[in-house]
Amino acid sequence: MRICVVSYHASPLEPVGAGKSGGMSIVLKNLYRRMAGFAEVDIFVRGKGQPVSLEQGINVVYIDQHDTTSFAEEVMSQHALRQYDLLHTHYWSSGVVGRLVNKVSRIPWLHTLHTVEVLKTIKQDRVRIDVEEEIVRSCDLVVSPTRQEAKALSDLYPGISAISVPHGVDTDMFRPSLDGHSNILYVGRIDPIKGLDVLVDALRMLERDVKLIVIGGPSKGERNFDSIKTYGSDLQIEFMGPVKHEDLARYYSKTSMVVVPSYYESFGLVGLEAMASARPVVGFSHTGLSETVSEDAGILVKMSARNLAGAIDTLAGNHELRQELGKSGRNKVLAYDWSNIARVYQTIYEKVIEK
Ligand code: UDP
Repeated sequence: MRICVVSYHASPLEPVGAGKSGGMSIVLKNLYRRMAGFAEVDIFVRGKGQPVSLEQGINVVYIDQHDTTSFAEEVMSQHALRQYDLLHTHYWSSGVVGRLVNKVSRIPWLHTLHTVEVLKTIKQDRVRIDVEEEIVRSCDLVVSPTRQEAKALSDLYPGISAISVPHGVDTDMFRPSLDGHSNILYVGRIDPIKGLDVLVDALRMLERDVKLIVIGGPSKGERNFDSIKTYGSDLQIEFMGPVKHEDLARYYSKTSMVVVPSYYESFGLVGLEAMASARPVVGFSHTGLSETVSEDAGILVKMSARNLAGAIDTLAGNHELRQELGKSGRNKVLAYDWSNIARVYQTIYEKVIEK
């Protein structure tokens, strides 16, 4: 099968952890690489240059157009040549491209939102909410990373087709190691929605001294990065900046637990990476972590700095519990290896194409 993937927002080849590039780039790179052998995939991104091969038959293709209409026209010319069986768009701006392509070509169309503006608990953009509604109402199938998101979309927009397929993790790259560390780890872009301020509040409530390692750079301008640095300047926090994804595993291995304090988290790849590294996860129970980490691999609490502090304190004082949760997290996460997730997509793609 020939798959046309549109990623107008960010390329899987960009370094992640700062700017506009985060979990979605990791998803695209890992998912489509694992499709080598059963699909030919062209991933269209913005920029100049020759196509880059991720694996045999899996290419990142640059389109040097910086508005969605011209970009869609280029995708349609490629479709005329390559005759794709299916279109899969990622993120709302790609959905805009998908809508234009689908109007003309009628190629079966899947869309993944990655973040759902209307479900965000802070900072909502009205225009984006309307555009996302139009996309999910127009495409053939919405793929969400969690059951709760797929259900929320179906409840909001009755009549749409939405299914859930979790994201995956590279269980070879992230592996268990002996735990003997006391510091705690945050990994992610520094963005208000990621809740680093709540984590700083929680650290301040702890009675024991805990050092926090922060990996990631500012997602939107330096201001937020600087203000969080100032906000936590009386605490033991080490800001490492963005770290290359390939080098991250050793940071997971040198921590006692991983904290994901996001106000909103559609899925939370960092949770899976911690589980694969056999480290317990602390986070909030309303986020996507509830379907991966749940009670098996960490402590999820109702959103508040006090609850977060309680969970960190419980784990910091209980080595046995950390080991137990780390071990069960590792066992659980093997099902999420990207090769398994790619096979799930293969079945879905085949079904949508056959329809
Ligand atoms: N990440 C990374 N280097 C960094 C910061 C983050 O490789 O310096 C990766 C992290 O390992 C994870 C992804 O970026 O795979 C973030 O994904 P997540 O789902 O947690 O958040 P998103 O960016 O999608 O909001």
